Amino acid sequence: MKKEEKLVGIPLVPGKGAGSAYFIGRGLEASSRVSISRQEVGNHIIKFHEIREMAKKDYALLASKKDSLISASILNIYEHLIDDPSFIGQVVETITTKLYDLESSIRIVLNDLVKRFNAAGTPYLKERSSDIIEVCERLISYLHENNNNSKAFIEPVVLVVLRTLTPSDILSYDRKMIQAIVSVGGGKTSHAAIIARAYSIPVVSGIKNLQDVICPGDKLLVDADKGYVYIKPSESLISKIPKDRESEEEFITKLRLKWQRPVFTRDGIQIDVMANVSLPEDVEEAVKYGADGIGLVRTEYLLSNKKGFPDEEKQIEYYENIFSKAGGKHCIVRVMDIGGDKVPEFFDMPQESNPFMGWRAIRILLEKREIFETQLSAIMKAGKKYNYSIMVPMVSTMQEWLDAKKVISHVADKLGVKMPQCGVLFEVPLAILEISTFMGEIDFASIGTNDLLQYLTAADRTNSKVTYLYNPIEPAFLRILKDAIKVSKDMAKPLSICGEMAGNPLHTALLVGLGLKKFSVIPRNIPVIKELISRISFAEAAESVSHIDSIADTKDMLRWLKNFNKNMVGDILDKFPTAMGI
Ligand code: PEP
Ligand code: MG
Repeated sequence: MKKEEKLVGIPLVPGKGAGSAYFIGRGLEASSRVSISRQEVGNHIIKFHEIREMAKKDYALLASKKDSLISASILNIYEHLIDDPSFIGQVVETITTKLYDLESSIRIVLNDLVKRFNAAGTPYLKERSSDIIEVCERLISYLHENNNNSKAFIEPVVLVVLRTLTPSDILSYDRKMIQAIVSVGGGKTSHAAIIARAYSIPVVSGIKNLQDVICPGDKLLVDADKGYVYIKPSESLISKIPKDRESEEEFITKLRLKWQRPVFTRDGIQIDVMANVSLPEDVEEAVKYGADGIGLVRTEYLLSNKKGFPDEEKQIEYYENIFSKAGGKHCIVRVMDIGGDKVPEFFDMPQESNPFMGWRAIRILLEKREIFETQLSAIMKAGKKYNYSIMVPMVSTMQEWLDAKKVISHVADKLGVKMPQCGVLFEVPLAILEISTFMGEIDFASIGTNDLLQYLTAADRTNSKVTYLYNPIEPAFLRILKDAIKVSKDMAKPLSICGEMAGNPLHTALLVGLGLKKFSVIPRNIPVIKELISRISFAEAAESVSHIDSIADTKDMLRWLKNFNKNMVGDILDKFPTAMGI
């Protein structure tokens, strides 16, 4: 029997999953075909002509913008393809004779055209195949406009992403059917990987030319514990997956039922384990997994899959939903962290060569005051009966923080409400090095280890090539955390860590030893982290961790950490492999 082909990539989110390959991202999406009745044929053809007109208008508008990537000649090609009688004829014929809906018909014709263009083998026609993909993807995108429902699949899929993985690659689809993701690019703390981790979707990245070896619809098995992708795997290989998952799930369920209550270390120190959430339904998960509060609401996801900026009323509804679902527990609402790898489709973002170093988060909000004030006003109106705080991301300088605070206070005055508790998300090196000065001006602090490490290591968090540099146990990084935690204790201001580091059980005892009393993590890991904390003595962990200053080498630090974890929590860490790896 022929052995399955195996590709090797970089594991971003551990776990295993199998399904049919579904291509996205300037590629051919192999979607499930949807049938229609004869009576519906006319409507689908009318819709086809409508979206063709919409695409031509939008391309012309995009081409007219300053610095547009669409030149006059590209515009000409796109218009030509959209009006091509043969393309139109084939789509209409597929709808009429095969009785497939418009999207399925466009995809069938697209697949056929691309095969033919590529088979011709000339560079010119190969290039045209990427143009027709672009045009068809745009046409199809109009069919999902104003439709906040994620696209459904009829069978379990493995997303095959022919570029860097983005958050909307996951959020636009029915997550329950996504068994795993394989992508060309993406880093361990990219926002897409964070979302995948929160939904337990294994991810392997860093594999080039996926489209040369995988065909849409191929059965794939992704072993993201090892970074392997098997093409057309044997049944016996696939059959091993559920067993691995079940034993871990069973264990986590047991812990979840146990940890619907606060946790104390063995020597009686209470530690809060809160949840990071992106979508309102995540709050239900947070409550289900026993969160002591919501330590980070990533509000920019309010903009995902939307075609326009939500007005104040819609935002109020969103925050009320979050606060009420949290059932009175404290929620830290982070104002919108737009930019980097989170750019809403409709947002007029300038082209930047270094988006993570560019116009992002508070830098945008201070300039776009109307967006900032609308969000603050909505949070404060929704929060009248609730326990919430406001957190500002990407603050670099004290001046920026003072400016932000002034806007918050202005909105509170205008609404006649009490100024809420406000804090800074420390994720820019300059700010955390100045944390003691900041502490005099803020009510609380949180550390965003994802961005902080990205900026300290000068390694783009979305780039799979440099994701090996993401290593929270770098001695210099631990020193920064240690100092910040000490400042918070000395100045009696609460401090949490809400970056991915806090959610990795490998780091729980270490962070407790550094003196951390507030964790904010993905909901699913809350019971695991609580269980670990309950087995640790705060004083003993602090005593052991006080010696790490003498460790200068990262490998030595890892050796020390493994040994330390064994002493603190025994071998329980082996029981939840998919909770780790970040
Ligand atoms: C961080 O940077 O660590 C953080 C919590 O924010 P985000 O991951 O959303 O950028
Ligand atoms: Mg951040």
